[in-house]
Amino acid sequence: MSRVVQPGKIVCVGRNYAEHAKELGNPMPKEPLIFLKPASAVIGDGEAIMLPLQSQRVEHEGEIAVVIGARLRRVSESEALKGVAGITCANDVTARDLQKTDGQWTRAKGFDTFCPVGPRVVPLTELGDLAKLEVQCRVNGQARQHGKASDMAFPIPMVLSYVSHIMTLEPGDLVLTGTPAGIGPLVAGDVVEVEISGVGVLRNPVVRS
Ligand code: ZN
Repeated sequence: MSRVVQPGKIVCVGRNYAEHAKELGNPMPKEPLIFLKPASAVIGDGEAIMLPLQSQRVEHEGEIAVVIGARLRRVSESEALKGVAGITCANDVTARDLQKTDGQWTRAKGFDTFCPVGPRVVPLTELGDLAKLEVQCRVNGQARQHGKASDMAFPIPMVLSYVSHIMTLEPGDLVLTGTPAGIGPLVAGDVVEVEISGVGVLRNPVVRS
């Protein structure tokens, strides 16, 4: 059990894969739809996701996460990658029922333990072309989600540049790049895994709080 990141903020992209937007009945946004998760939601590989009493429907969202290594402020797409420390796996755990009823997402995405991250941060020099990254999510060993970075509506350099024109990205900050289709529920006793090619497997048990 270890936490490989300690972000000041976590910036997330909603609806970055067309198939996922479709499964929730949402149109694709014309520019990245961003939101924040609190840094207090972060847990490491092996730590438990706690199901909150306020929700009846908690879901996994396996995602490719970018760890910022150097301050990025109003950078171009080509400059953006120079400020990346590396890539890691993340799970944008979401209380889907509260996301719908609240009308905005702070509570649904902000519970403690709702941002598992890890198991390690792999530098871009070890990964090669970011567009070739693939993310998979499994629950109890069964495949649930599989996405390719090349299928993102807004590729990673574009997302980083876009965010950096809104808020400065600081070293340690995390950018979660959206989830592919196949989201589904998590219940107590499940073990959820997020795997990124060349990065590793992030594994977290699910427990009642
Ligand atoms: Zn997400």
